[in-house]
Amino acid sequence: MTGGESDRFHERLRAFEGRPAATAGRGKDAVNEAMIRHWCEAMGDTSPAYTGPDAIAPPTMLQAWTMGGLSGHTDRSSAYDELLALLDDQGCTSVVATDCEQEYLRPLRPGDEVTFDAVIESVSPRKTTKLGTGHFVTTRMNVRANGEPAGIHRFRILKYAPAARPERGREARPLPERGHSGAPSRPRPVINRDNQGFWDGVREHKLLIQRCTACATPRFPWLPGCNACSSPDWDTVEASGAGTVFSYVVMHHPPFPAFTAHEDPAEAGGPYAVALVELAEGVRMISNITGVPYDKVRIGLPVQLEFLRVDDSLELPVFRGEAG
Ligand code: ZN
Repeated sequence: MTGGESDRFHERLRAFEGRPAATAGRGKDAVNEAMIRHWCEAMGDTSPAYTGPDAIAPPTMLQAWTMGGLSGHTDRSSAYDELLALLDDQGCTSVVATDCEQEYLRPLRPGDEVTFDAVIESVSPRKTTKLGTGHFVTTRMNVRANGEPAGIHRFRILKYAPAARPERGREARPLPERGHSGAPSRPRPVINRDNQGFWDGVREHKLLIQRCTACATPRFPWLPGCNACSSPDWDTVEASGAGTVFSYVVMHHPPFPAFTAHEDPAEAGGPYAVALVELAEGVRMISNITGVPYDKVRIGLPVQLEFLRVDDSLELPVFRGEAG
């Protein structure tokens, strides 16, 4: 597609902006304790806000109350189907959900009847991603409880033409980015506003654990709120660095050179252990074990924090096992 054709196609797609994606939707069930309990069990969320006579539903359940289940909804608009068909015709036959954003306007409580409407909010210009080239389609769902605005759920998909995959063994395959050791670079951690402080600590060789200032419960990984009491207020404690292996797995396949032993090049490409380490402070984190061969890692193995310089721009907290 030339640039001009691409612009004209985007104009046709943009004509769908503002048109309905779903109208007069109705939740299949009223907000109810059973679904709230199942959600909390699946998420491991023990907050007392979600049980008892004054229970509210976890805010992130917003979309759950609007889902059609296997039998689907009958309220999907013809405009949304037409938009998807137009993209199909242009070869954008694959779809992947990329992200969602939610805004909460009022808590949902058992008994609330949920209704909603959704609109096609935006269709992006043509974009090329690792998956392929296509368009992001964002829908905005306005969710109501007993007729009052309760929240907004934005949902984004990428409708795309899959990128051709190089055949196995062909030299055309792009080479992965390499670290200074010649091995492929490790994937970078995803740093966001919720965990920025943790990675700031790592830079100073501190392993920082969040601690709820309301109920003193420590937590890891970093989260915006306390799972025990829901308080958003927290400070940090620096881990002593002492811990034990709580559980572990040994990765055999597929070989992933970026994750093989850095200390002993002879082991490059070989199996490696991924451990769940229980820190003395009571939280657990997933990390690598150094100083002990992968087949000598055991549950209960005492370990001590150290920082592994992986490459010029990446340093990671890992745990040194006491060999013996
Ligand atoms: Zn707390």
